[in-house]
Amino acid sequence: MTLENEIKRRKTFAIISHPDAGKTTLTEKLLLFGGAIRSAGTVKGKKSGKFATSDWMKVEQERGISVTSSVMQFDFDGYKINILDTPGHEDFSEDTYRTLMAVDSAVMVIDAAKGIEPQTLKLFKVCRMRGIPIFTFINKLDRMGKEPFELLEEIESTLEIETYPMTWPVGMGQSFFGIINRKNRQINPFREEEMLKLDDDYELETPHPISEDEAFQTAVEEFMLVEEAGDAFDEEKIAGGELTPVFFGSALSTFGIEEFLDTYVDFAPMPTPRKTEAGDPVDPTDEGFTGFIFKIQANMDPKHRDRLAFMRVVSGKFTRGMDAVLARTGKKQKVTRATMFMADDTETVEEAYAGDIIGLYDTGNYQIGDTLYGGGGGKIEFENLPQFTPELFMKVSAKNVMKQKHFYKGIEQLVQEGAIQYYKTLHTNQPILGAVGQLQFEVFEHRMKNEYNTDVVMEPIGKKIARWIENEEDIKESMNSPRSNLVLDRYDNRVFLFENEFATRWFSEKFPEIKLYSLL
Ligand code: GDP
Repeated sequence: MTLENEIKRRKTFAIISHPDAGKTTLTEKLLLFGGAIRSAGTVKGKKSGKFATSDWMKVEQERGISVTSSVMQFDFDGYKINILDTPGHEDFSEDTYRTLMAVDSAVMVIDAAKGIEPQTLKLFKVCRMRGIPIFTFINKLDRMGKEPFELLEEIESTLEIETYPMTWPVGMGQSFFGIINRKNRQINPFREEEMLKLDDDYELETPHPISEDEAFQTAVEEFMLVEEAGDAFDEEKIAGGELTPVFFGSALSTFGIEEFLDTYVDFAPMPTPRKTEAGDPVDPTDEGFTGFIFKIQANMDPKHRDRLAFMRVVSGKFTRGMDAVLARTGKKQKVTRATMFMADDTETVEEAYAGDIIGLYDTGNYQIGDTLYGGGGGKIEFENLPQFTPELFMKVSAKNVMKQKHFYKGIEQLVQEGAIQYYKTLHTNQPILGAVGQLQFEVFEHRMKNEYNTDVVMEPIGKKIARWIENEEDIKESMNSPRSNLVLDRYDNRVFLFENEFATRWFSEKFPEIKLYSLL
């Protein structure tokens, strides 16, 4: 197969949702359809979400690096589909956001009973900013949930995106009788035996079951209304993330999945170009191999210091043992140890193409955002990955004052790696750490102890709203208060940490001349 054809058949997406919406279940079922696993229930990685954070550490230690590596490839209809999980719960961190930088589309899973939940919204915003196509899977139709029109309306108003239902449910809960497929205008009936396959936590909870006839009649009427009055189909809008194709189904009972996959491969983009620091796009079909690192998975086992750096191949072809240059240092190296994740196991990568995600074994060479290139292309460097606005903050210091040097070296490296964000107080230079998820602090503490031999003392200062300042020159000392605390970021930009929304609004009203902004 030619390079171009290999690349054209690749589709790389992130799966996003609020915890418990059914992301893991849907992933399992997608893999099942792709024939990647023989029976569902073997998806690694996610179950970590069910542990408390301390358990996560233990699991990491026991099983090494694999637990949270959550990238998988499967085949479907001649396509090679790369699916990237975005950890939630206590695992939520900046990595979750950065994962979205490495994909070309996103699949948003929504629990039909709950609608849009906070974490979905956060992740959606990052997708939106990137202008990537977003596909919506409304899950758990086998239970009573919100009415389909209500859900569409919620998506449209909360996320400001148009919707285009590709399927339409016939009833729900105990009266879930099937889905209407808009593409081939056929009804796929929900079979009784599918009902039986539902696991133990499935309860029949429809208060007033309606008859099959009644459900079909309503569904057909609704479907006609959608066709008449709904948003028009527009491929360009899908491509730009302005219109989301919507699917209804039940991941647990493997219903609505095939309809979803069928349409997904039709409309999801092939690997897209990425911009360099200089602003030039690198096309996926360029001959030279290029890629960037978007996530570094530390091994929590102190006996095994090696880490796994996740790289998105941006252009060309990666082959095992090839020479690649790390753009930041200019150093050339042979890349021999790379892995790719299939559902059942990891495999050594012999070759990978633009769009693929591979894990490189790392002994501390790579940083988040690093560019690698080789195979003939000239020197390039991809643009930096965005920094995200942290929400949680902690004061941190070394327990033992004699260990200051180790302490600062550790912080520097972990910050560079993107594990945590670094701030300090204005005059006293007291280090402050910022994170989007609590887990980042725990990983920081653990790694400082294990890798830099430094015990740290952490003092939570809680949730804050961080706002950067466009016109820093207009800042006055008097604006610094406990409710609008001025600190410095790692580049010495001044940042306000506001106590809450109220304090932010109050400040903006009192000092309208100060132009505040947030990172992503
Ligand atoms: P995640 O946190 O988004 O990865 O969610 P999971 O896939 O772990 O699912 C959370 C819970 O919802 C589990 O108990 C699943 O069995 C259940 N679940 C997932 N999909 C469905 C579905 O389609 N119907 C029903 N009734 N339950 C589901």
